[in-house]
Amino acid sequence: MLLDRLQADLATLNEQALRRVRRTLDTPCGPHATVDGREILAFCSNDYLGLAGHPQLVCALAAGAQRWGAGSGASHLVSGHYRVHDELEARLAAFVGMDSALYLSTGYMANLGVLPALLGRGDAVFADRLNHASLVDGALLSRASLRRYPHGDVEALTRLLETSDAPCKAIVTDSVFSMDGDLAPLTELLALAERHDCWLIVDDAHGFGVLGPQGRGALAAAGLASWRLIYIGTLGKAAGLAGAFVAGQRDVLAWLLQKMRTYIFTTGAPPALAQALLASLELIEHGDERRARLNALIEQFRAELRLTRWRLLPSATAIQPVQVGDNAETLALAQALWDEGLWVPAIRPPTVPQGSARLRVSLTAAHGAEDVRRLTAALKRLEQTL
Ligand SMILES: *Cc1c(COP(=O)(O)O)cnc(C)c1O
Repeated sequence: MLLDRLQADLATLNEQALRRVRRTLDTPCGPHATVDGREILAFCSNDYLGLAGHPQLVCALAAGAQRWGAGSGASHLVSGHYRVHDELEARLAAFVGMDSALYLSTGYMANLGVLPALLGRGDAVFADRLNHASLVDGALLSRASLRRYPHGDVEALTRLLETSDAPCKAIVTDSVFSMDGDLAPLTELLALAERHDCWLIVDDAHGFGVLGPQGRGALAAAGLASWRLIYIGTLGKAAGLAGAFVAGQRDVLAWLLQKMRTYIFTTGAPPALAQALLASLELIEHGDERRARLNALIEQFRAELRLTRWRLLPSATAIQPVQVGDNAETLALAQALWDEGLWVPAIRPPTVPQGSARLRVSLTAAHGAEDVRRLTAALKRLEQTL
């Protein structure tokens, strides 16, 4: 029977230490939280600049609701597109140095929608093996052939491109890899895209707001510009709110507006959110102090954490993974930290490859030096005693 099978599969997840559970917060997003009824120091969120609970954004969201109401009422192409959406798209495009942008409800939807709008059966997508799940899903949905290259391996990608005769090709990559924290070789990827006439789609979920001058993102950090570049920024991480945008050359965006099903067949996000996002963009643009604080914490974490049994992966970003390897050991470590009042997520397959389970420490500008010291001290102690 179907239900028996499902229950057996759930039991298997339990046995393999792969069953996921949620914890419930009673306080706003921030390092010091009340979770499942207890006070905890959290290193889990992607709120890299500490904006999710910022009073100015809370006020902007409330003011947005006063001005625009609570919901949008329809999809953007019907009657759910408001003046403040236009304004937000123009500001986002200018901020990342592109002609145009489309604002979507989530990054998952942006990634699910872009590839099927640009490619179809007979075409080819070239994707880094560690790309975010939403990019993989978008590639599958497009029905183009999906060729995955080893993480960051420009030579392997070159060989794949040289043997492809697909009429329409796209290279797709995270800018900052979400479970590793390292950076894609964007300059080399753009050179390859030019040589082989490909789109280059860059998912900057973890770079927007953090990398580059004024937080303009990974492309600005690398000084790259081209009509081939399609930029995806998400707005639920450093921007502290929700949503995402796709930005690029004017005609490319005009086409996406016609063809992106995840934009067309869904209710427009509340215009109040767009108003709050305009306030968030202001804070990001004038956020050098926050970015400097974050970078100081990253340096402190790496300087303090010298490990022998586990491995601190090479990363210069706010994502600092401690690779343990074994699923059960990773879970035991996360539990031991939790028992000490420290919350760090254990990341296991299928989110990361088999045998590379890890703690994903994420740092934010809202943490303090003392918070980081507590975590590094606990990790060093547990490495000896767990
Ligand atoms: C979080 C994330 C997304 C999805 O963005 P949401 O707005 O949360 O749906 C896409 N890509 C990457 C790399 C991410 O980390």
